[in-house]
Amino acid sequence: MKKLIYARKKEFKVEAYKQTIKTIFKELNTSEKGITTKEAKIRLYKFGKNKITQKKKTTWLEILLRQFNSILIYILIAAIIISLILGEILDAYVILAIVILNAFLGFIQEYRANNALEKLKKLSPVFTTVYRDNIRKRINTENIVVGDILILSQGDKIPADARIINSQNLQVDEAILTGESKPVEKTNFIIKKSVLISEQKNILFTGTVISKGKAKAIVIKTAMKTEFGKIAETVLAAKPELTPLQNKLKIFGKKIGVITVAVCLIVFVLGVLREYFIIGITNEIILNYFLIAVALAVAGIPSGLPAAITASFSLGVHKLAKNNVLIRKMPAVETLGSTNVICTDKTGTLTKNEMTVKKLFVDNTEIEITGTGYSEEGKILFNTKEYRSETLNMLLLNGILNNDSFFQKDKVIGDPTEAALLISGAKYGLNKQILDKEHIRLNEYEFDSERKLMTTINKFHNETIVLTKGATENLLKKCSRIMVNGKVQNLKVSQKNKILKKEEEFSKQALRVLAFAFKSKDSRNDESGLIFLGIQAMIDPPRDEIKESLSKAKDAGIRTIMITGDNKQTAIAIAKEIGLGFKRVLTGNEVEIMSDLELLHQVKKINIFARVTPNHKLRIINELRKAGNIVAVTGDGINDAPALAKADIGVAMGITGTDVSKESVDMILLDDNYSSIVRAINHGRGIYNNIKNFVKYLLPSNTGEILVILIAILLGWPLPLIAIQILMINLITDGLPSFALSLDEYPKYLMSTKPRNKREPIIDKKMIKHILLVGIIISIGTLFMYWNYGFNDEGRTIAFTTLVFFQLFNVAGLKSENFKFSIRKNKFLFSSLLISVMIQLTVVYSPLNTYFRTVPIQIIDWIYITLITSTIYFIVGYYNRKNFKYGSIV
Ligand code: ATP
Repeated sequence: MKKLIYARKKEFKVEAYKQTIKTIFKELNTSEKGITTKEAKIRLYKFGKNKITQKKKTTWLEILLRQFNSILIYILIAAIIISLILGEILDAYVILAIVILNAFLGFIQEYRANNALEKLKKLSPVFTTVYRDNIRKRINTENIVVGDILILSQGDKIPADARIINSQNLQVDEAILTGESKPVEKTNFIIKKSVLISEQKNILFTGTVISKGKAKAIVIKTAMKTEFGKIAETVLAAKPELTPLQNKLKIFGKKIGVITVAVCLIVFVLGVLREYFIIGITNEIILNYFLIAVALAVAGIPSGLPAAITASFSLGVHKLAKNNVLIRKMPAVETLGSTNVICTDKTGTLTKNEMTVKKLFVDNTEIEITGTGYSEEGKILFNTKEYRSETLNMLLLNGILNNDSFFQKDKVIGDPTEAALLISGAKYGLNKQILDKEHIRLNEYEFDSERKLMTTINKFHNETIVLTKGATENLLKKCSRIMVNGKVQNLKVSQKNKILKKEEEFSKQALRVLAFAFKSKDSRNDESGLIFLGIQAMIDPPRDEIKESLSKAKDAGIRTIMITGDNKQTAIAIAKEIGLGFKRVLTGNEVEIMSDLELLHQVKKINIFARVTPNHKLRIINELRKAGNIVAVTGDGINDAPALAKADIGVAMGITGTDVSKESVDMILLDDNYSSIVRAINHGRGIYNNIKNFVKYLLPSNTGEILVILIAILLGWPLPLIAIQILMINLITDGLPSFALSLDEYPKYLMSTKPRNKREPIIDKKMIKHILLVGIIISIGTLFMYWNYGFNDEGRTIAFTTLVFFQLFNVAGLKSENFKFSIRKNKFLFSSLLISVMIQLTVVYSPLNTYFRTVPIQIIDWIYITLITSTIYFIVGYYNRKNFKYGSIV
């Protein structure tokens, strides 16, 4: 019952920065061991999830109403009203029905797209380490409650407002809250007087980021009660951004709109004048031409295009999420399509990141460790006999104490490299939980990829011991002595060389190598004058599908460059195993002394960079971009942020990535897998291709319709199409397939062509030629059929059906590969084509035909129509094939 005291209170009222930790513990009914899981559940139930609620969601009603909020619909409503005034009730009804049906289609499309985006938000849960039930646990940040004890380290985003219990070298980036761009130092000192939040140095605020050090803190406020929550509306209310492509098409659409309106005016004036001189003017004639002009305006203004494009983006992004890629910034989808270089890490991205220590080098002896994965079963053997020694004990103990990883239900929390060290120690009988208590950690220097070392300082009975681990070359530089068979000796050059040779030998077997050293704490720098202990070498097998993905990338004209912090030989061995082609390897040391110009030359041919620091990585990316490449770069650590920001596509790791690295990137790989980048590129190309297809489908149709009407007027023919037929084609029969285009599979050939040039405009000369050519063929074919059948209702029915069928064959041609249209790969499109045909049959044969002024036609007519209109399938298919052969996606 006592535990529930807090649960009855509303929130933590006192200003926590003025309180002692003891008071806060008492007030919140918690302790350094954390609350119990049961208590956490009660608090969660009572006070809700730790969620910053964003702006309210768009409801279905809003989406539905939005469908009627466009200039085109206003024009159509005006047309309905004018028809009613002039007594043309039939026309009014049909237009109304078309408007409603169009709104319904638009609603479904937008609702689906919206839903896809909503679901995306839920896909990337963030986890935080807390103490619950007196053990460390990784929990979903949403489940954090007041009273939880947070364990935070470099790169973590702070999940709730919390009071610092203790900290080491803590620096926090509070820019999001205070605007202060430099990280601020934080400690656990009590503040006596009232101060602003920027001065509350013992409080960690939600949304800010730990840029250095570690902290243990107690949660005092969650969700909307936090300082971040209070300003969330302003911080999060950013408008969804349009991609450059969407912007370009918006401008293009506007231009076409202006041209269309001008053409419609010409049609109206010309038509009315013509009638005036031939038969005289009546209200009905004016209405007729008015409706034709309106219908043509609806046809000409590519109103469906923005919706189709947005849907294509959001559905594509949703599909990507199902493939473990989370897009953070929409424009990235476009850039993906033109990416021609992928710079990838090695560990975890190309390899599985499931480490197992296989070999040791200690007491001048190579020792084997048996067992696989994270199972503690296995032995430490020398010549098939179990090996034990004082040096080995210290080496493994170092690996256990100088280690921040832990297991939660067989899952590694933390760095898999360190997890492997827990297992190698366990095989020797060492247990982290017990040892951590026995040898309390007094201080630490966390791992960073610049030093490539990590040090902790631990209590050993009456002594204070410095334990260091890291990259062998770097560690050896800090060692002056070595322990062999429990005895400490001076480290000779010959011995150093022997160790380096052993390291090379292990690395050549694709093993990841870590060296260990220690000393009694003295007055010198902690990472100097160390006693070398030995080496642990671990396997990290390549990911299963990696070979296939690498060759897929190669076929798609994409170069893969491995940029790793690991040793040169390990990098080479892994590259050979996975089939990453390379001629030479550059190391960080070599990059260091190179001028930018020299590096620019090198990046054009080097595919492996080893032992690099984040700064080298940044320089490599810079030069690659200078050379005109579009570069996707992966990164996980806090120091990777500049390189990720510099890249055309910054890619963070969902599993191992720090919160900071995820913050500024364009996309996140939920499975940390290189193959997912290749899949994402495939999607990027697919989405771009879809958009090109929309343009190539919708615009020729509009051009065709306008030409049909315009030419008929100029030739003095009666009009081949009536207004509602034009409306029908644009709002219904064209609408369905254009929606289906974004649902189907992408064509295979997209990944066997070179990446698209980023600077290439979407509407280029080729595209305009294509639109005009197809538009002219459609109009000539339609006019020919009309002329052939006669200027009457039958001729009009034939012209109307011909136009519809041209469009259906046009879209089928766009999705054909080598003149073959695969129903299996285009299920949605095929269904939409069937529905469109059915609608056409209904309009021609059912009683509805009186509304559409159509008459039933014969089988032979259908055959003629099919023969004439299917030509477009082959013409469009021919262009598809030709462009594919030329190696660019057009
Ligand atoms: P990649 O960029 O391919 O993922 P990486 O993960 O191997 O490379 P880093 O994590 O920077 O690159 O590691 C570089 C080197 O630092 C490793 O070869 C290893 O010797 C050492 N190292 C890695 N993790 C630790 C750690 N937790 N503590 C101490 N040293 C480490």
